[in-house]
Amino acid sequence: MVGRLAGKNAIITGAAGGIGLETAILFAKEGANILLADISEPALEKAVAKVKELVPAATRLETRKCDVSKEADVQAMIESLDSWGGLDVIFNNAGIMHANDDDAINTPEAIWDLTHNINVKGVWFGCKHAVLALRRNNKTKGSIINTASVVALVGAATPQLAYTASKGAVLALTRELAMVHAREGFRFNSLCPAPLNTPLLQDWLGDDKAKRQRREVHFPTGRFGEAVEQAHAVVFLASDEASFVNGSDFVVDGGMSKAYVTAE
Ligand code: NAD
Repeated sequence: MVGRLAGKNAIITGAAGGIGLETAILFAKEGANILLADISEPALEKAVAKVKELVPAATRLETRKCDVSKEADVQAMIESLDSWGGLDVIFNNAGIMHANDDDAINTPEAIWDLTHNINVKGVWFGCKHAVLALRRNNKTKGSIINTASVVALVGAATPQLAYTASKGAVLALTRELAMVHAREGFRFNSLCPAPLNTPLLQDWLGDDKAKRQRREVHFPTGRFGEAVEQAHAVVFLASDEASFVNGSDFVVDGGMSKAYVTAE
């Protein structure tokens, strides 16, 4: 299949929903071979069925249960692509925002640890084993995209301290890896999405209009983003079109982090 990602072997974590699933659909349309990974097997099965339905000509699509907070899972997942010719692209996208995450006083330590184990250690493990795989397979280029968030760039007045700190860590580790591995041809970029219409946020907002309004008011566009709008950016970062894009905090937020907007 001809496409912007033709011939590339890609892993997407958190592929069963939201940004990960939309990215899998676009990667398939662009000709990538894709391993969709997630902690939820039933959700993965539904996701891969959807990709197959929307992109019947997809080259190679497989699924794998993986808890990104467990290094052995991540290592085995990435090593499994050696038989495909080795990994070229990994989108370290799996992440959680826990309902009990709060401010400095009220965030339970267990929630801090859980959030950081998935959002930070999960990304580190993905980066570590991607570098090892790229080297093992003698690759001269590779693209690693890590999902951060705009809350790593601006202070959010709605407290979710463990989450915010975890995404700040993703930005920092991604920048450093970009510098360390630049001469090997391995690019590292962070994706910074604004609040989106995905289950992660929308389930939490529910039908609480006040909570929703408190966030919508910050968008110059007056709306949340859509997951597919993030996925388009990921396709670019994964492709060779982005060959000189490295170490960036790639912001896809409808202008939210640059805005001074008022309710009236
Ligand atoms: P989502 O909840 O729709 O998808 C996240 C996926 O990650 C789920 O399928 C879930 O099963 C999976 N997952 C959770 N824990 C995992 C683990 N330990 N190992 C493997 N997979 C695991 O969420 P989304 O909105 O698509 O979020 C994707 C990424 O985008 C996350 O890192 C999130 O923090 C980030 N983000 C989301 C928003 C937003 O508003 N939705 C904004 C900024 C950043």
